[in-house]
Amino acid sequence: MRRFYMLEINLTEETAERVDCTELFSEWLGGTGVATKLLYDSCSSETDPLSPEAPVIFAIGPLNNAFPVMSKTVALFKSPLTGDLGESHAGGRLGLALFESGNHVMRIRGKAKEFSYLSVENDQIELKQAYSLKGMSALATERVLRDVETRSGKRSFLRIGPAGERLSPISCVTVDASRHFGRLGLGAVLGSKNVKAIVISGDSYFKLDNKKPYLQLYQRIFDQVVNSEAMTKYHDLGTSMNVIPLSKINGLPTRNFSQGFFEGAENISGETFARDFLAQQIACAGCPIGCIHMATYREAFEPEHHMYKTLKVSYDHELIYALGSNLSIDSPEMVLKLLQVIEKQGWDAISIGVTLAWATEAFQRAIIDETTTGGEILSFGNGETYLRILKKIASGENEFFSDLEKGTEYCSKKYGGEDFAMTFRRNEAPGYVTGMNAFLGYATGVRHSHLDSAGYSVDQEIINNPISFEEQVRKIYDEACWRFIFNSLVGCLFARKIYDQKTVLEALEVSGMKSWDAEKLDTLSRKIHSLKFKFKEENGFSFDDLKLPPKLEHVYTTNGKLSQSDFKKGVELYKKWLQEDHHPV
Ligand code: SF4
Repeated sequence: MRRFYMLEINLTEETAERVDCTELFSEWLGGTGVATKLLYDSCSSETDPLSPEAPVIFAIGPLNNAFPVMSKTVALFKSPLTGDLGESHAGGRLGLALFESGNHVMRIRGKAKEFSYLSVENDQIELKQAYSLKGMSALATERVLRDVETRSGKRSFLRIGPAGERLSPISCVTVDASRHFGRLGLGAVLGSKNVKAIVISGDSYFKLDNKKPYLQLYQRIFDQVVNSEAMTKYHDLGTSMNVIPLSKINGLPTRNFSQGFFEGAENISGETFARDFLAQQIACAGCPIGCIHMATYREAFEPEHHMYKTLKVSYDHELIYALGSNLSIDSPEMVLKLLQVIEKQGWDAISIGVTLAWATEAFQRAIIDETTTGGEILSFGNGETYLRILKKIASGENEFFSDLEKGTEYCSKKYGGEDFAMTFRRNEAPGYVTGMNAFLGYATGVRHSHLDSAGYSVDQEIINNPISFEEQVRKIYDEACWRFIFNSLVGCLFARKIYDQKTVLEALEVSGMKSWDAEKLDTLSRKIHSLKFKFKEENGFSFDDLKLPPKLEHVYTTNGKLSQSDFKKGVELYKKWLQEDHHPV
């Protein structure tokens, strides 16, 4: 029987213990299933997300590192942004390094006495003081740790930037080369624990009794991955290939979601970035696709000298939307410059971009003025101003700039402009204005992300194949349910269509998890769904509070105009099915 292990770390007590958690994996499969159960059991509604008691759980699943594109790690925590379930997924080498350190889960609790980084190398767990890293950018921190932590085995580097140290609820954790636990504020949670970084490595490897069926299945999946059209798209231009097509169908958020068509789309398209800036494509461990697009651009050290540095920064659709079309920036170079500052500070790019867009509209509508902004005049399209503002947020130049890194919802409640605050349950909206299903997906999703149920795909499907509203919402619901299983395996969602239920069951069987069948997977999906919403509701979430941001009733989307009443109907349908599928947990 395969066994699974959890590394339990208490930063306050400075203890670490490896415990057998095979039973948890037998019941909850792995990844998001296991981590949700652990979060629920170790974090109550009384727990402040930034208190020492708040846990952070990193988990992989039973297929990680054994099959192609099973390359992600999930993090569960209580979100300082929403106050309820925090969940984020990241690639890089973390899943591999965690596995090779001999662990499938790592739960961190407590708070380090001094500013530290956590080192995990097989069985050696150490908290090391990190004063020299204080205030250091997320990019420089990795460079320093790479030099310091030379060791054998696969290494993975997680770190926060200064934004996480300042406990910004929109700060992220950066993983290896440009991968992120981006959404919902994990950076602040690590910051509150006095943890600047985690370096993890090991040299265990995957052992199997019967290799032949495993190798046959591996090869079949590998062939599908490398030959599938969808994967070619991710490898070729990456998700940024969506920019032009989305704009053509009025689906690309522009100027704080004022419209779906961006006149500068071609300038910031995947095609333009690839032609003029793409330097390298890299991949997460165990992934033959390599969708991570790294651009380079040159920047003068000082304006008066002819000396330049070459900077490397990753880009994709969400980043181009958040720092490009939604701010009306049509210069790819400026998008990269903004991204570089954001990478260094360690903010979630979507959240900070949407907050800047809200601030710009608030300025245009005279809700805030130059007294608030210390003389800055905000206007869409002015990249230099946004660059200055990001630096002022980082230095906390005045109260308003300090507030901007608390996110859109916080700012709109304090300064006004809630009608055009583009948030769903306090989380800033991702890059689609394709219609009702995108927004219903963000609202009803457990982490309020486009990755919960991909409603934007349903919006695009129904352009040519119309179905009833109820059928559309059902598609979102069913997709969300299947993703609870896929996210328990912690695969990359880009490969979700390759891993259908039959393939998943075959893969589980050949990797020593023989007790799973279709019925058990279906029950598990309902259990995870129920438990996640139980946690959310106990921590203040209510379906009844969900609303379409009022501005979106006046925007022409891919599927035309939207109404608040249709949105409410969609939420009610989702809630009804969730109640019908309720599984006691
Ligand atoms: S497709 Fe991209 S994000 Fe997904 S595992 Fe591969 S490289 Fe990582």
